[in-house]
Amino acid sequence: MSGTAPSKLLHNNHLHRRRFLKIAAISTATTALGVVPGWHLAYAAALTKAQRDKLTPDDIIAHMKKGNERFRLGKESPHDYLAQQKASAKGQYPAAVILSCIDSRAPAETIMDLGIGDTFNAREAGNVANDDTLGSMEFACKVAGAKVVLVMGHTACGAIKGAIDNAQLGNLTGLLARIRPAVEATQYQGERSSKNYGFVDAVGRKNVELTMIDIRRRSPVLAELETSGAIKIAGAMYNLETGRLEFFA
Ligand SMILES: [Zn+2]
Repeated sequence: MSGTAPSKLLHNNHLHRRRFLKIAAISTATTALGVVPGWHLAYAAALTKAQRDKLTPDDIIAHMKKGNERFRLGKESPHDYLAQQKASAKGQYPAAVILSCIDSRAPAETIMDLGIGDTFNAREAGNVANDDTLGSMEFACKVAGAKVVLVMGHTACGAIKGAIDNAQLGNLTGLLARIRPAVEATQYQGERSSKNYGFVDAVGRKNVELTMIDIRRRSPVLAELETSGAIKIAGAMYNLETGRLEFFA
């Protein structure tokens, strides 16, 4: 036998132990931060119907906030994606539907430390809701039982800058026109230009607010679910610099 075998074994054991300690540390951190009871107790399985049905819209929003906190601290849950994939293959019971921007730096599930089967996701540049988005949200809530509609904008959004600049390009022109009302409605002392990030982010936030109003106005199905307390329509802004997701409505 080669003389390297024992040291290799030792090395493997060492790796094993380091991996175990790392997982133990993550578990401890997760417990310390607090996780909504009944959601991913072992991070090995997808959300079940019983677990989802027990959660209130506020529980779900609290879980999203905690998930973003773990993400910011670099203490994400030890997701077993293969187990989640297998557990959710026969059925899905997502807790929320998220409308966010296509921006590659703002992936909703990652920045809220969510797993497979947790949320429906709609993405559109500038997180505006068209008729198909509304139809998707109605399916998510009324048919599939999701309890939160989250509109998530983000800082330094290119679509918002494009709307401020009245950019014209193919089909993008029509999309940016949906954001223009937010540009007009934003109260701001200072330079109203796409080069001023303070203004860009103020418009981004106003755009989330107007999108929420738009969803309620154009979807009687969702408005009624919200009035009855079955769902909550919420808004948040994700900060690309800090990784913080701020819920403001
Ligand atoms: Zn964007």
